[in-house]
Amino acid sequence: MPPANIPVWEEGGWAGLPSLDGDVEADVCVVGLGGSGLTCVGELLRLGASVVGVDASLVAGAAAGRNGGFLLAGSYHFYHDAAREYGHERARSIYRLTLEEMDRIEAETPGAVRRVGSLRIAASAEEEEDCREQLAAMRDDALPAEWYEGAEGRGLLIPTDGAFQPLVRARALARCALEGGARLYEHTPAVLMSGTEVATPHGRVRCGRVVVAVDGQLERLMPSLAGRVRTARLQMLATAPAPEVRFPRPVYLRWGYEYFQQLPDGRIALGGFRDYGGDAEWTDEAVPSESVQRFLEEFLRDRLGVRAPITHRWAAAVSYTPDGLPVFEEPEPGLFLIGGYSGTGNVIGALCGRAAAQLAAGGSSDLARPFMHG
Ligand SMILES: Cc1cc2nc3c(=O)[nH]c(=O)nc-3n(C[C@H](O)[C@H](O)[C@H](O)COP(=O)(O)OP(=O)(O)OC[C@H]3O[C@@H](n4cnc5c(N)ncnc54)[C@H](O)[C@@H]3O)c2cc1C
Repeated sequence: MPPANIPVWEEGGWAGLPSLDGDVEADVCVVGLGGSGLTCVGELLRLGASVVGVDASLVAGAAAGRNGGFLLAGSYHFYHDAAREYGHERARSIYRLTLEEMDRIEAETPGAVRRVGSLRIAASAEEEEDCREQLAAMRDDALPAEWYEGAEGRGLLIPTDGAFQPLVRARALARCALEGGARLYEHTPAVLMSGTEVATPHGRVRCGRVVVAVDGQLERLMPSLAGRVRTARLQMLATAPAPEVRFPRPVYLRWGYEYFQQLPDGRIALGGFRDYGGDAEWTDEAVPSESVQRFLEEFLRDRLGVRAPITHRWAAAVSYTPDGLPVFEEPEPGLFLIGGYSGTGNVIGALCGRAAAQLAAGGSSDLARPFMHG
């Protein structure tokens, strides 16, 4: 039996951080130390702000350290759909900004990133047609994409995308932030937040601004968002090295519902079938379920031809928005909320974290512009 609910990314070696005990002051308090919050912390330090960061559990203890490890440009929608939904300018601007953010992610943590491209593989004739529409839209806007036919199937190759080790990267960002003077606390849930203060069970952070960087369960933390974001569970499994197959790039297929990659040592990490799980997957209970895990296992054996034993099964929560664009708002002066990446927050979440940092540091932010609603 695989160990319970531990992601394949866990390699040990994290000593942990203290919890907050007493009151502290800082220019900015960041709530949530996943990839988005840690990017925000790093950008704040770069801008000269003093920072306190708190996390209810562990650094990257939620989706940020428990995901598929894909680095994808753009937003939740495929490019042509995004252009239709949000308008051409906005879709193109988001795509270009995420491409730049991916370059920064690679430069910050080169050892954790592989820029090998990604494949979108069609699972039906209808989806193949949709891939062709996406390709045409991307070519029209001079964005890198190629038609692909190979062992994985037919669809698109996006050469600028990549894969990463999300937990290693997050911990590297946290160590770097600590060295840069940030004070970071684990096991420190924010229970009350305003633009100038964050209350936790054993201490308060008094500050000039607050950034809340939480994806899954955002509506629970911020009840004003109820109805605008909805939390879902996503599930994965991983195997021992599988020399019987070779997938050089991360692959997503069936409209992005399934996704898998082969790690450099041959292990397979596979996620998907949220829709097959039905309403039960609209939950913040971040534990694997028998039914979705069974679909994953069938896919692993029958579709991918992997025979290696399963070593990990895990789940985590993310939140979805109706339009597929992230939540990025300032509901009261000095309080910034980011989250709701609809299952694709590794790059766009980092971008939102950086943009929120620029605003919280008191400046303007070109990065924030495509995300600010209204
Ligand atoms: C199985 C799975 C596969 C995925 N695959 C991909 C993928 O391949 N590519 C991709 O781009 N995206 C993927 N995603 C989505 C992506 O993981 C998330 O969108 C992204 O990691 C969100 O990071 P975050 O830092 O914004 O938020 P989170 O990871 O949600 O981090 C928020 C942090 O805030 C903390 N927190 C919550 N409440 C409080 C509180 N009250 N006080 C203090 N701290 C609090 C949590 O403990 C957590 O550590 C996947 C998600 C899952 C679950």
